[in-house]
Amino acid sequence: MDLLTTVLTTLVDKGLRREQPTREEALAVLASADDDLLDVVAAAGRVRRQWFGRRVKLNYLVNLKSGLCPEDCSYCSQRLGSKADILKYTWLKPEEAAAAASAGVAGGAKRVCLVASGRGPTDRDVERVSRTIAAIKEGNEDVEVCACLGLLTGGQAERLKEAGADAYNHNLNTSEGTYGSITTTHTYADRVDTVQRAQAAGMSACSGLIAGMGESDEDLVDVVFGLRALDPDSVPVNFLIPFEGTPLAEQWNLTPQRCLRILAMVRFVCPDVEVRLAGGREVHLRALQPLALHLANSIFLGDYLTSEGQAGQADLDMIADAGFEVEGAGTTTLPAHRTDAAPGVCGAHDGGCGGCADTACAGGHTAGAARAQEAPAVPGARTDLVAVRRRGAGTDLPPNA
Ligand code: SF4
Repeated sequence: MDLLTTVLTTLVDKGLRREQPTREEALAVLASADDDLLDVVAAAGRVRRQWFGRRVKLNYLVNLKSGLCPEDCSYCSQRLGSKADILKYTWLKPEEAAAAASAGVAGGAKRVCLVASGRGPTDRDVERVSRTIAAIKEGNEDVEVCACLGLLTGGQAERLKEAGADAYNHNLNTSEGTYGSITTTHTYADRVDTVQRAQAAGMSACSGLIAGMGESDEDLVDVVFGLRALDPDSVPVNFLIPFEGTPLAEQWNLTPQRCLRILAMVRFVCPDVEVRLAGGREVHLRALQPLALHLANSIFLGDYLTSEGQAGQADLDMIADAGFEVEGAGTTTLPAHRTDAAPGVCGAHDGGCGGCADTACAGGHTAGAARAQEAPAVPGARTDLVAVRRRGAGTDLPPNA
């Protein structure tokens, strides 16, 4: 048995037992060759099926407030000084957001992610989002609502929980060591603090990463291990969309095969957690998207915050053609041991936003941009695949769901 086969056997065994892999095992997945890709996918797919069967959860993004952010997250098209030609608008009215959410739910989404650009909400913003949550739930009683509003302070998490927010998203995005080069206006510790505030308030925590910003394999393992330690219920995996007009516009560092290895590594490290294939799916995985369903158990339906995804119907067709099924509203996403166990036990939070899914709002990071900007771009960058969103929320055109 060769070394990789031995490692994959160990990773499957650990994944089925919810045991944490070693850093070396996680790094071996990222370092594996393209020739071994299907073996890696098959192994991580066994872990995915153990905890989530063939179900795929659909999530739908509503960008409540787009652009004009004072923060400087390098990957973000909404950042301070961004020249990206994205939609810019201030808060949607509750009924406008509810109408956008209803389109996603009608398309099969089980969760609606309410995202707003900015460092964090004011108390007045929390009130506004509370009214929006009420408007959404009035028309769609069973829908899960996740808020993604940036850094939380004071009793804001508690007020959002009370207003009916089921989950809160705040991504770690990159490792603590590289954070300062990606963002200077807030820190990795700020982000951890907000995830913990959401958990303490009883909301399901959603926190993930962005790959492709020039980070090393070690950085990726660091951030995923950091996420496991935080124990969110859902982990969105974003692949950088290098928007023209942002500092990372030249960062075409990913191949479809690399994306699959990253997803496999996340699955092995967070075996029983909702791993969500998020922004950059179409841009970077391209024809290999269906293989990613063997690793992730959750995707966004339709468009992202500031960029366009493939047609919602194409998402549904892909799921069916690959032999998977859309998770119904009556099905609990997480395995019973996570929903039944006490908070604090690995995998046991009751209560999770994925926003920032086109690597737009991530709400607060620090050190790595300098290195990222030095990394060589992959030849053959597909800038033709990045389409700025021009429909749905904040426009007069119907959404893509
Ligand atoms: S990721 Fe969020 S906080 Fe950072 S610049 Fe974008 S909208 Fe602002």
